[in-house]
Formats: sequence, C-alpha cells, structure tokens
Amino acid sequence: MGTATEPMGGRCLCGAVTFSAAIAKRDVDVCHCSMCRRWTAGPFFGLMHQGTVAFEGAEHIRVYKSSEWGERAFCGVCGTALFWRLSGSDTYSFSTGVLDDANDLRLTMQIFIEDKPDYYDLANDTPKLTGAEAMALLSGDEAKE
Ligand SMILES: [Zn+2]
Ligand SMILES: [Zn+2]
Repeated sequence: MGTATEPMGGRCLCGAVTFSAAIAKRDVDVCHCSMCRRWTAGPFFGLMHQGTVAFEGAEHIRVYKSSEWGERAFCGVCGTALFWRLSGSDTYSFSTGVLDDANDLRLTMQIFIEDKPDYYDLANDTPKLTGAEAMALLSGDEAKE
C-alpha cells in the first residue's frame, strides 16, 4: 500500500516515458466523454495531481491540445495515453492505466455521464456528474488555489 507522501510511479507501454510524482489523493474519476473514449478506446480513469512531476524520456511525450482548456499527452513511440492536463497549469489527470501500482485507488466520481454510451454501465456506486457540473467543480477547485 502506498501512502500520500510516497511518490507514485508510472510508465507507458514501451517504457520510453516514465514518471514519478507525489500524488496526494487516491481518488479516481472516470470520464465518459466522447473525446476520452476516442483517445483511450474506453472511458478515461483519471487520478488528479497538482504539482511537479519528474519525467524521464520527456522528449518522447507528444501533446495534443484537445480543447480550449485541456491537452492530452501520449507517448510518441507506443501511443500510450499518459495524462490530461489543464492547459498551461500543473493540474494533471493521470491515466490510472499507466501507474505501476493501482491497487489502493478508489473510484469516487463519474463525469460527463450524459455522454456515456448504452453498451456499458459501471457497477461502482459513485456520484454521476454531467460535463457542466464537472467543469464547475474543476473551476471551483482552481479558484481555491
Ligand atoms: Zn511508449
Ligand atoms: Zn473526457
């Protein structure tokens, strides 16, 4: 079991990009929006982090600006989706799929629930927010900084 003070590590499929960050929370939110589903071939399970990240192989990271406020980073060698980031900030949402140890995480929220297609439903009992509600929550968090 990791603790909040221990750095969490992760890497892409090919290992060209690795990272380590002192991620404070273990709360995962899952995004059902169409952009995330195109990007990852499924809903995006994200672990939020604010602060510095130590990357190795950063020269392999490609960044796609997917909206006015957000950008998506992936490995230019193997294509692994690494993180979503609030543009120009140190607010990240790491793909839980790239973490070396994802065993002590908990799913706490589902967002863009109105975009979820009918072919799947998650059994986790979490609050379900619309995209508008999620964006309001995110900008509220920003305002507190
Ligand atoms: Zn890679
Ligand atoms: Zn999304």
